[in-house]
Parts: sequence; C-alpha cells; structure tokens
Amino acid sequence: MAHHLDTRLLHIGSAPFDPASGTAPVSLPAVRTSTLRFESLNALEKTIARRMDGERAITYGRSGLDTHRALEDVFMQLEGGTYCVLAPSGMAAINIAFLGLLQTGDHVLVADCVYGPVRNLDRALLKGLGIEVSYFAPGQDDVAALIQPNTKVIYVESPGSLLFEMIDLPALAEIAHENGVLLVADNTWGSGYIYRPLALGADVSVVAGTKYVAGHSDLMLGAVIAKDEKVAARLHSAQYAMGNSISADDAWLALRGVRTMSVRMPQHARNALEVCAFLATRPEVLRIFHPAWHKDPGHALWQRDCTGSNGMLSIELACTPEAAKPFVDALTLFGIGFSWGGFESLVQWVDPGALAGHAYWTGKGHAVIRLHIGLESAQDLIEDLAQALGHIK
Ligand SMILES: *Cc1c(COP(=O)(O)O)cnc(C)c1O
Repeated sequence: MAHHLDTRLLHIGSAPFDPASGTAPVSLPAVRTSTLRFESLNALEKTIARRMDGERAITYGRSGLDTHRALEDVFMQLEGGTYCVLAPSGMAAINIAFLGLLQTGDHVLVADCVYGPVRNLDRALLKGLGIEVSYFAPGQDDVAALIQPNTKVIYVESPGSLLFEMIDLPALAEIAHENGVLLVADNTWGSGYIYRPLALGADVSVVAGTKYVAGHSDLMLGAVIAKDEKVAARLHSAQYAMGNSISADDAWLALRGVRTMSVRMPQHARNALEVCAFLATRPEVLRIFHPAWHKDPGHALWQRDCTGSNGMLSIELACTPEAAKPFVDALTLFGIGFSWGGFESLVQWVDPGALAGHAYWTGKGHAVIRLHIGLESAQDLIEDLAQALGHIK
C-alpha cells in the first residue's frame, strides 16, 4: 500500500544497515567527497554501463553521492516527478531550465508575475545568446495568440511572486501542448507539498529548496523536476555542462529540514490566515493578496488546485510606498529581508519598480508590503503588526 506523502518524506534516504553489525544510523550521513575510488577498472566500467542503462550511477563527486540521491528522491516525491536535477540555488535551477530547454533562435513566453531575477537572466544572458523572451499577463492575455513558430517554452510562477495570483495551470498546459510547447512552472511557493504543477499538466517544475524544503534559512538549494525522459536528459546535460554542485552538508541540512515539512507548512498557513483576519479589520489595509484568503480573486483556483497554503502574503496599504517605510521599520518580530520559507517572520518593502510591467497590479501609487508569516505565536505577530501600522505617516 502506498503511504501518504508525510510518511514517505520521513523514510526517504534511510541509511542502509551495516551487514557486519546489523545496525544503521537513523539519519543518513552527509557523504562528502570530491571523487570516487574504484576497486578495479572493471568496477569503473560496470558503473559507467549502469549509468548508460539509466541508473543514477556516479563516477565523480560533483554529482554528489548518497546524500544527494536521497535529496533528489525527496524532490521527486514532493513534486510527483521521475527525474530530478539538483542545483546550488533556486536561481541556478531556473538557469538549468532555461538553458537546457532553449537554444539560439528560440522564443520563451514568461508570465509577468515571475520572480524578479528572471528578468535579469533575460537581460544578462538570454539576450546575448539570441533567446527571445516576451512577457504575458496570465489570466488576461490570450496566450494561444502569443505563441510564435519558434516558441519552445512557457515559463510561469503560480501563485505569482509578489501578489500571489493563481494561474490556471491545466488550461495553460492544454494551450502549450496543443502547440508543441513545454510548460515550466516555478513551484517554490508550493514546494510540492501544497501544489503540484506536474500533476496539473506542467512538464517541468522548478523549486528553490532554499525556502520551505530546507525551511530554516540556513542554506541555498534548487531543484528541477521532470516526468519525461527526453526533457530530463536535456536538463541533465545542461547541469553537467554548467558544472554546478551542491555541498553534501547542504544536502544533508535540506534532508533534515524536510522531515518536519508536514508540521511546519500547516502552521505557517494557520498563522497567515489569522494574520489575514486581523489585517482585514484595519482601515490602513486596502487589500490582502493570499490565495487561501476567501476574498482573494484566486481563491476558487486555489481551492481547486492546492491542498494547502503557506505563510506568504502581501498587503496593499492606503498610503504611498514612502509613507509605509516607518511601518516596516517599526516591526520588531519581522526581520527586514528578502527570501522566505524559514521558521521566522520576514518583511519586504516591495519596490514599486518591481510591480511595473505586472498587469495584475492595479493599485498604482500605493505601498505593497510582502510578509512571510513565520512560526512565532500568531497573537504576537498580530500585536506587532497592530503597533507598527500606527506608524504609517
Ligand atoms: C527565492 C526564489 C527563487 C530563487 O531561489 P534562490 O535559492 O534564492 O536562488 C526562485 N523562485 C522563487 C519564487 C523564489 O522565491
């Protein structure tokens, strides 16, 4: 009988028993090495042959050893995929997806709500390589009409990075596949635990493991997960060419972090909903962006496609971005900083420039504040927000 994901996440990568003592450590050790020694040339040849047969047989340390294989298994279980390529950061994973699936002369359609540094990847690398990028507004633009003869990939992030708008992935996957285009989704928000793009029709899922998978703000990690062998071969080939590698200690920390995902994620989600209920009572807050919140326009899609939520939310304040700065500075439990997915609460003053070119954003002139609701007591977080809101000029 197949076990529930919560159970599988705890048992992936159990260390094998030592045949002599009949014992094994509960926690798989971090296997650190730069290379492998082979008993004989015959053993080396056998390993290469196994790899040719599609096994994850390793001949060199850059690909990592048992700790890394166990972490790949974690991502495959989370995302429901059959292939996984690890990367040293979420951004490195995004690079593998773009450079593995696109070549000079190709075109990629990118959702306008994606993680900001993707636009920098476009400017810094893709332009120079002759890979054409254009942006579309999910839920507004007629995507089928935007597909060109050279379009190879549609790249999205659902929910969106700053305002958490839900994208209808099954509908988009249908359009993509009717046109022979691959659908790639950044699933850092869902991290496979509360949202699974591959099951909704996407071909590739990209995850910043830095966030909820690791869960403790103590490492950088990325993963690219796929279900088709040919697609996976292109991702592997890009990864191999780029020479990325993840330290065994970081892989080990991520394995350790993911063991508690089943208790962390629902608690982040409960705390965030309590905070939403408080924020909704405040006149300074014009709008809450959080798909699990009943008033969010994406709520119906969230109910249909997600199995849970997390600690991410944004608010639109009835003041200018400048006037919101004292509010951010007055918070005591929220660290001012980027990133999210750790145990702690964080606040980001969203630069208005980051919302330009983002069709879902209609509150021009107003402040947007992004909050990561951590595992502190929700009551304490609410009291902190209440006092800080009093500082808006
Ligand atoms: C943080 C983040 C990334 C990048 O991850 P890093 O590990 O910081 O490089 C990519 N996508 C999304 C949605 C993110 O939030």
